[in-house]
Amino acid sequence: MKPAPFAYAKARSLDEAIALLGEHKDARLLAGGQSLIATLNMRLSSPSLLIDINGVGGCDGIALKAGMVEIGALTRHAAAERSETVARHAPLIAKAMPHIGHVAIRNRGTIGGSIAFADPAAELPACLLALGGEVEALGPKGKRTIKADDLFKGLFETALGPQDVLTAIRVPAADKNARYGFAEFARRHGDYAIVGLAAGARAEGKALTDVRLAFFGVGATPLRAKKSEAALAKGDVEAAVAALDVEPQDDVQATGAVKKHLAGVLLRRVARQLMEPRA
Ligand SMILES: Cc1cc2nc3c(=O)[nH]c(=O)nc-3n(C[C@H](O)[C@H](O)[C@H](O)COP(=O)(O)OP(=O)(O)OC[C@H]3O[C@@H](n4cnc5c(N)ncnc54)[C@H](O)[C@@H]3O)c2cc1C
Repeated sequence: MKPAPFAYAKARSLDEAIALLGEHKDARLLAGGQSLIATLNMRLSSPSLLIDINGVGGCDGIALKAGMVEIGALTRHAAAERSETVARHAPLIAKAMPHIGHVAIRNRGTIGGSIAFADPAAELPACLLALGGEVEALGPKGKRTIKADDLFKGLFETALGPQDVLTAIRVPAADKNARYGFAEFARRHGDYAIVGLAAGARAEGKALTDVRLAFFGVGATPLRAKKSEAALAKGDVEAAVAALDVEPQDDVQATGAVKKHLAGVLLRRVARQLMEPRA
């Protein structure tokens, strides 16, 4: 199918993009276009204007700042995948990156686009939640920071306002006690996950603290399994599986029962990763 007709504007600055969003209530920002253009082509959305933010500048760096890894919203997935800073200081994101679509998609798709789109089966929103990260947004009233715990509100819905541009994401930089786990089940490598799990924790001797399990593909948003987190902090993997407090619905890929079973399988795999000292 072809998209409905739309106008195109190339924003030269974030302020211009925000002003255009204010003038055109049904406009959409265009970043990598890897999700947006598909929804246009399928006529799932028909904005009157696309505001291309690729030229705004200053939103595509990766840096270590005050104990946090900051990744600019327009950073391509491929740049994050190749980044030494991400590999060393945000290893969970590095682990997740190769699972996002295929190389061509990762060459265009952006970190900010993936978080703002908030696909419930996407890897990065779950990583942001598992790491207790945050996003920075710029809107008509200036800058604000939104914690990952407060960001994902519903199906493809975030706490970003209609005139907000997501400018960066930040996650705590890994130290020697930080532990991570990642696993997903997809029909083919590169497909969206049927079920996935991104996890973070801290090692205290042989015990784990601050366990954060963020499942994806099991609900309308990435979801933390808090009862399982508590059981895992006590070192009891089977109790964590038994306590799994996610209730996936049936979808075109699998029944809710199959997804819940897979969630338990992934939890056992990820628990092993969390319990192993990092190389
Ligand atoms: C075949 C295929 C397979 C894929 N597989 C996966 C997969 O396995 N896992 C996965 O996670 N993703 C997958 N994707 C999606 C890919 O990761 C996209 O790149 C990502 O979801 C959106 O990023 P984008 O930069 O392309 O955003 P766009 O498509 O440009 O925009 C997506 C939405 O986010 C909004 N937006 C974009 N940037 C901002 C911003 N800075 N501030 C506010 N709003 C913004 C747009 O207005 C739009 O509504 C796949 C895509 C394709 C085509």
